[in-house]
Amino acid sequence: MLDSYARLSRNPSGKLEKVETQHADNHEVISRLGGVLGEDIDDPKLSAWNPKVHRPGWDRVLKRIAARACDGLVIWNTDRAVRLSSDLEDLFKLIDDSFLLGSSHGRYDLSDYNDRYQLRMEVAHNQRSSDESSQRIKRRFDVLRRNGVPHQQGRVFGFAGLDRTVARGTEDREAVPAVLVERERAALRAATSAVLAGTTLVGLTAEWNKSGLLTVTGKAWTPSAVRAVLLRPRNAGLVEHDGDIVGRMAGDPVVDPEEFERLRALFAGRTSGRAAGERYLASGIVVCGLCGKGLSGRPHVGEYPDGARRRQYGCTKSRGGCGHVAADARLVDRELRGLVLARLTDKKQASAIKAARALISDRLAAVQTKIDASEARQEAIAAKWGADKMSEKAFDKANEPLIAELTKLYAKRDELTGGNPEGPTEAMSREEAEEKWKRADNGERRAMLRDALGRDRIFLDPADKAGFRKFTAKRVRVDPYRVS
Ligand SMILES: [Zn+2]
Repeated sequence: MLDSYARLSRNPSGKLEKVETQHADNHEVISRLGGVLGEDIDDPKLSAWNPKVHRPGWDRVLKRIAARACDGLVIWNTDRAVRLSSDLEDLFKLIDDSFLLGSSHGRYDLSDYNDRYQLRMEVAHNQRSSDESSQRIKRRFDVLRRNGVPHQQGRVFGFAGLDRTVARGTEDREAVPAVLVERERAALRAATSAVLAGTTLVGLTAEWNKSGLLTVTGKAWTPSAVRAVLLRPRNAGLVEHDGDIVGRMAGDPVVDPEEFERLRALFAGRTSGRAAGERYLASGIVVCGLCGKGLSGRPHVGEYPDGARRRQYGCTKSRGGCGHVAADARLVDRELRGLVLARLTDKKQASAIKAARALISDRLAAVQTKIDASEARQEAIAAKWGADKMSEKAFDKANEPLIAELTKLYAKRDELTGGNPEGPTEAMSREEAEEKWKRADNGERRAMLRDALGRDRIFLDPADKAGFRKFTAKRVRVDPYRVS
């Protein structure tokens, strides 16, 4: 059994080499070698070449090798996997008997010292070419940076320069008026303070667009563009490289450096996109069987067999719960999947969902939007804390207002009860429902779960006190809605 490893990378012509293509090539090598595929493992990040960047995929490879979960590894090319000779030695250390390393260019038996020598040479060569090219680029920019000229071309927002709303190469490209630059600088200052005071990026974006501010290329603002422009170190007069301050720009900074750092800390606590809030299927939907508070998802000790961090649902005291109920997240999710599929394929249930949805209208949708936003923030800081990037004290401080807000929102939602304004209103076939579940992201699954529940409530009951605490399906209990 051979694993396939791929790392997102650029090929010599500068084109992106997708992990899928590399895996496909690897699979051919595997069958040529007479093996079967164990696992496709990859690091889908360009920065995975950088020794400072964490590569979960490569870690997984080492873990599987250490456990001898596979008999060999196929990589597309040595420079796609092994960055440094230390990586290679790590690999050697794990292996004391025959282990096959295959690539499109050859195969190596790691128990053979000749093959090991060959590999060491290749890796040393890869390392030298990579060092060479980065050295060239570094030298060029080092000079500029020390002089306080950040590496960036053309005019940027809040700074003087040639008007970029006019196409490049046009002769009438002139310097933008100073009054425009001043206006942009004022906007950057105000926006930084506003975000620190709690204004959302969406609100801020609307404000900028309403006031007629445009990007340097003359486009309307989007929240992510506003976020990016607020997070530029140059706003605070800093010239940064790889996270280190390597210079300071001449003149007064646009934004107070201290405010800038606070802003950066604030954004660091948020994870980009909507994914963060939707990492858990059941948080806030399933409630504690003892005290009736919404459960929250959290990282737990240990790992699942597939290497993912264990997670659990729990009733948390900090959310005003009793703190006595918790269960493994995957086991609970499996029950929920069964429930959703059963209900969405049931005709009677589908019409009940339809009726429930008609009653809840827009009010529930509005509450849900607020809940999702708060949960996203909460889970983002939880993730930081789980990764040891935030002290417990800092976590609590950031979490407190969120708890207060969420408690109110959950109460409001309970009033309106479950259901989701969008979604299927007719019973689905078993295949349809399964396919939909399979393709859904966690946010969509949450919506399906709400849909399936309608106005019913779902509880997680405490584990049996006696004996070994084993999860049983009956701990997930649905309480049908009754008209009072
Ligand atoms: Zn509880």
